Amino acid sequence: MGFAFVCGWCGAPCTVWGEPVASWWTDKYELPDEFECWSCGGINETPPPPWTPAE
Ligand SMILES: [Zn+2]
Repeated sequence: MGFAFVCGWCGAPCTVWGEPVASWWTDKYELPDEFECWSCGGINETPPPPWTPAE
């Protein structure tokens, strides 16, 4: 599942893909600690949850 973030450098919307974590009581996803903006190449720290699922 993808989550929507905004690049802190250029403001471009970024989608970060998370791997589902095996769990039977909640929907959890694991995201990398940081992601690279597709637009400017800047490295952003992944903010803490809750995250916004991307369309
Ligand atoms: Zn950027």
